[in-house]
Amino acid sequence: MNILPKKVKHIPKGMVIGSWTVLEYVGTKGKGRNGYWKCQCVCGNVKDVCASLLRTGKSTQCQSCSGKQNGRLSLNAQAKRHLYIVSCGPYFKIGSSDNPDRRIDDLRTANPFPIITECIYLDQGYKEPLLHAYFKQYHHWGEWYLIPTFNLISEAVELV
Ligand SMILES: [Zn+2]
Repeated sequence: MNILPKKVKHIPKGMVIGSWTVLEYVGTKGKGRNGYWKCQCVCGNVKDVCASLLRTGKSTQCQSCSGKQNGRLSLNAQAKRHLYIVSCGPYFKIGSSDNPDRRIDDLRTANPFPIITECIYLDQGYKEPLLHAYFKQYHHWGEWYLIPTFNLISEAVELV
């Protein structure tokens, strides 16, 4: 993600910061002397965003995409999460993430055993809790399951 250095006063039009695309400068608002920039989120929402929040990377998407509604993920944010299945020896991990590749890289870093990416199902992250319930009897710990074959999981993804 782009984070502008503080000394850069001007944010170039069209610059992409997280999910925002910078559209135009709208001027200063309120008591603060911060400038505001009209930004469009990837979902299409347009909002005036405080320049300092853009520069520091504190604002990277609109409120509905950040999904923080009463501390729970909104349906919209859940839909954007991807389902991933990785295996490590006989164990499978059923997880969801908005960035499965990064998540799986993190797992590899934290694990001395090879982690194999079995499948990533785009936009199906909402199935994670359903699959956890489905494979309850195979639960090992955390998000790890001792499931006999990956086929059982791929079938379950279609079923739930
Ligand atoms: Zn958005």
